[in-house]
Parts: sequence; C-alpha cells; structure tokens
Amino acid sequence: MKVIPLFQLPVESTEPAITCSTCAACCCQLEVMLITDTGVPERFIDTDDWGGEVMLRLDDGWCAALDRDTMMCTIYDRRPLICREFEMGAPECITEREGIATAYL
Ligand code: SF4
Ligand code: SF4
Repeated sequence: MKVIPLFQLPVESTEPAITCSTCAACCCQLEVMLITDTGVPERFIDTDDWGGEVMLRLDDGWCAALDRDTMMCTIYDRRPLICREFEMGAPECITEREGIATAYL
C-alpha cells in the first residue's frame, strides 16, 4: 500500500469558490449605465427614465447581451465600462450571488 504523506492530501474547502463559472451571471441583472463608448451594439442599448443610455434588459431580468444558454456575455470585448469594473469576489458580487442563491433550489 502506498502511504500518502498528510501534507499531500487534497484539502477540501467548505466555502464554495466564488467564480463566474459557477454563477448564474447575477450581476448581469443589474442596471448597467453606458458612461463611455465601448462599442456596444445599438440593439442592446435602452434609454432610462432620465434619457441616459443603459444596457437593455429582457423580461427575464437579464441583460439582452447575455447568452441564455451559456450565461456568458456575447459582447465581452465590447462590454460597458461598468461591467469591466465589476470585480468577481468583491462585496457587490457576493451580495448579488446571495440575492439569487435560492432561485435554483
Ligand atoms: S462577477 Fe460575481 S455576480 Fe457577476 S457573474 Fe461573476 S461571480 Fe457572478
Ligand atoms: S454587457 Fe455583458 S457583462 Fe455586461 S451586463 Fe450585459 S451580459 Fe453582463
């Protein structure tokens, strides 16, 4: 029998890792204002009540640019500045994940 030294045994974390690949793109339900021109296609742009440009959201609540099958951004290279600055694992990210945590139970 091969003995594996204790320090080589894999350590299971009890905390689920926070990563976009295990997330239902929670942050893509937030209102995203377009404050710079990053080349977002017109068909994904909506106007808010004050005349400002925002990402269009569909009836399911998610951004129109989100692929519903893969839950990935279809305009990643042209995504708005706010999306670029929304940091995975930051407090805002954790809050959004908690808010949708029961949606798939
Ligand atoms: S940034 Fe956070 S909330 Fe947004 S998709 Fe990634 S893990 Fe989910
Ligand atoms: S533009 Fe992309 S990253 Fe930004 S909210 Fe829409 S789908 Fe999410």
